[in-house]
Amino acid sequence: MAELRRDPFLDRWTLIAAERSGRPRDHRHAPATPAKPNDQCPFCPGREEDTPPEIDAIREDESVSSWRIRVIPNLYPAIGADPLSESLSGGLFDSMSGGGRHEVIVDSPDHLLGLADLPDAHAGEVLRMLQRRVRELYTVPSIRSVAPFKNHGAPAGASLEHSHLQVVGLPAIPPYIALEREAAEHFHRDTGKTLLDEMVEWETKQNRRTIETGERGAVVYCPFASRFPFQVAISPWPTQERFAESPPGAIAAVGGALARSLRRIKNLLGDPPLNVFFHVETRPEPGENTPAHRWRIEIFPRLADIAGLEIGSGMHINEMAPERAAETLREISF
Ligand SMILES: [Zn+2]
Repeated sequence: MAELRRDPFLDRWTLIAAERSGRPRDHRHAPATPAKPNDQCPFCPGREEDTPPEIDAIREDESVSSWRIRVIPNLYPAIGADPLSESLSGGLFDSMSGGGRHEVIVDSPDHLLGLADLPDAHAGEVLRMLQRRVRELYTVPSIRSVAPFKNHGAPAGASLEHSHLQVVGLPAIPPYIALEREAAEHFHRDTGKTLLDEMVEWETKQNRRTIETGERGAVVYCPFASRFPFQVAISPWPTQERFAESPPGAIAAVGGALARSLRRIKNLLGDPPLNVFFHVETRPEPGENTPAHRWRIEIFPRLADIAGLEIGSGMHINEMAPERAAETLREISF
């Protein structure tokens, strides 16, 4: 029988319809990564002139093309960097434009390697760069929240094959981020505990959906109310309040856990398209105390299209029980 499960982070329900799933390997997907080099790619070394002016980089030496990680503005930004202009009509049609940033972090110089293929230490370095960008973006007065994410494969929204992260700084707080903040604050007021710590404690105690249990500085598990088959959550262990202020060891540990988790998914499922989302803090206000909040990452493999129920009602049907997903991901070589 299908089971309704509540996601406490978003306070919403998912239908786990595990009897509709086949074996985990039946969810394998045609590979999302490119099969061959692309001599037109603007993210490849040697084509630095083809991108907008560089924002930041980690280089081997002084030469322009010796970068290991490179940050540039998105050529087609989702939100403009010009000054914020608000039109609060008082009616139904409030709007605003500008006041944001949209940046791209190119993960590595190699066109053929995804984050899953990079050494754990390199993935940690990518997250260190992301941390630098989040800190920097919160110095822009109009930015209220930062949403970092990765699209891997065209069906998951990647318009360029060369592996990259995107970082969007927004002058507003997106709905899921607002809901998560509210749920975490509510839980903290009621119990004096943080929602993520409580969640990790339960996952570790039940030990049915865990993939890594903190021995390498990160906790990895398939969430109880996963909306997508093989959805994976990653947190530093011990958990950390603000991404921008987390110590280098925690950032490196989560980078490694992210690369390993992506490798497990790739080895099990044939490199499916997927999205990675970084649930980081909203803009810290001066003197603000936010003990309720903890950052984490989620991986959403895109193995099935979402349909009418998901779009219209917000309730997802997931045909792969997270317990089965975790068991298979835990056992696969990576
Ligand atoms: Zn490339």
